[in-house]
Amino acid sequence: MLKNFLPNEHVTNVFEIRPEELVERGIKGIITDLDNTLVAWDVKEATPEIVQWFKLLDEYDIKVTITSNNKEERVSVFSQPLDTSFIYSARKPLSHAFKKAQKQMNLKKDEIVVVGDQLLTDVLGGNFAGFHTILVVPVVETDGFFTRVNRKVERRILNWMRRKGKITWEE
Ligand SMILES: [Mg+2]
Repeated sequence: MLKNFLPNEHVTNVFEIRPEELVERGIKGIITDLDNTLVAWDVKEATPEIVQWFKLLDEYDIKVTITSNNKEERVSVFSQPLDTSFIYSARKPLSHAFKKAQKQMNLKKDEIVVVGDQLLTDVLGGNFAGFHTILVVPVVETDGFFTRVNRKVERRILNWMRRKGKITWEE
C-alpha cells in the first residue's frame, strides 16, 4: 500500500526539471500542481523564474496543464497570464482530473510526468492514474488548514520511506 505514495523521482524545486532532459526521455507533457509546487500557496501570480520556466517548456514544445484542488479563481488568476491550460477543483488523488488533463493534451501516459509537492494528492493520484510522478519539496513550510492535516499523515509516510532507504533527500 505505501508504495503507492512513492514518487518515481524527487527534486528540490521545479527548476530541476529541465525541458531538454524531458525531451530526451520522450516526455511531451507535464501535469503540475500549483500551490507550494510552482509558488507558495499564498502567492497569487507566477514569479519571474516560473514565467521563464514555462517559456522554456514552450520552446521545447512541452505542454503543461496546471491541475489543482484549489478553487477556480485562484487557479485561473495564476494560469491565464501564463497562457497555460488548467484544471481547478481537481479532487486529487482521484484519477478524473489526471485523465482529463491527458486527454486535453492528447498525449500517451508515458509521455507525461505528474509533478507536485504532496504525497497524498499529487503522488498518490499520479501513481494511481498510471503516470510517472515527481515529488518536489514544498516552496514554503506553511499551508492552508486541510493541507496541514495531510502533512501530518505525509510526515509519517516520509519517515517510513526514509527508514526503508527509499528516499534520500534531506529536509
Ligand atoms: Mg500543492
